Amino acid sequence: MTARIISGTEIAKQIREELQREIDDLKEKYDLTPGLATVIVGDDPASQTYVSTKIKACQALGLYSANYPLPGTVSENELLNLVGQLNSDPKIHGILVQVPLPRHIDEGRVLTAISPDKDVDGFHPVSVGRMVIGQPTFLPCTPHGIQELLIHAGVPTEGAEVVIVGRSNIVGKPVANILLQKAAGANSTVTVCHSATRDIASHTRRADILIAAIGKPKFITADMVKPGATVIDVGTNEIGKTPAGKRILSGDVDFDNVREIAGAITPVPGGVGPMTIVMLMTNTVKAAKLAHGLK
Ligand code: NAP
Repeated sequence: MTARIISGTEIAKQIREELQREIDDLKEKYDLTPGLATVIVGDDPASQTYVSTKIKACQALGLYSANYPLPGTVSENELLNLVGQLNSDPKIHGILVQVPLPRHIDEGRVLTAISPDKDVDGFHPVSVGRMVIGQPTFLPCTPHGIQELLIHAGVPTEGAEVVIVGRSNIVGKPVANILLQKAAGANSTVTVCHSATRDIASHTRRADILIAAIGKPKFITADMVKPGATVIDVGTNEIGKTPAGKRILSGDVDFDNVREIAGAITPVPGGVGPMTIVMLMTNTVKAAKLAHGLK
């Protein structure tokens, strides 16, 4: 069997088209342009790429976007002051501070300084708490994007055995919490594996839905996958550069061999990545509507 490819690029395009209609409507009916501020500290090339992709996506949808590139030497207080200004700027509805931050800055302190009403990345402890207890909130973009991928691809989650490899605060833990909720597009039985898990394959082989968020190229091999399973590959590992200097990416899944076993699989690139971006745009529009008392 060769797996069906779940294209995040295609699904993100559909969601973007719906969002475009909503944005046009907000402008026309309420003279409201949702605005996103992006803050980037230092010159890490991967972070620069992520932020410029997010800015381009904003601009393509006609959102207001303000970018704050700061030198790697910026102090924690200067950064906190900027976040404070953005919190009270009425043109800005969402604030994204790209992580990781340099070591001399307390990341938790900065992320907690963002108003929960503008926390479009969903990393503020208030947003995380609401997510865990199933209250309405801004869901973190990659985990929410994974849930939307599953829904749009028609993969049933209700009662499904979901195994996640990776327990980071930005992917593994939140996607576990989202799929655990007693709600449509969730209601799964969730197992989370990590570096101290004994015999990972004994868990992954039970999975109806296997989510790999490890950061190790081709970690998930065909013998770790149940025939017919849906495999979601979050990994974005740079394994080289083209002669033109473009990054060559590999997922956490051995795609060529796993696709012969799985029922459905996401590619890298073109799987989870585009969903992350579109969920950020979705959260920014949602923040703008909430700020103006609109549903
Ligand atoms: P991370 O913070 O480094 O976490 C990796 C997780 O994998 C940890 O929980 C770690 O376990 C676990 N792990 C590492 N080696 C393992 C092993 N040998 N066996 C079992 N578990 C192991 O990474 P992340 O931020 O979650 O990102 C994971 C991957 O997704 C990366 O490639 C990243 O670039 C990619 N990513 C993509 C997107 C996107 O939009 N496409 C977004 C975010 C991340 P411990 O906790 O025990 O250390």
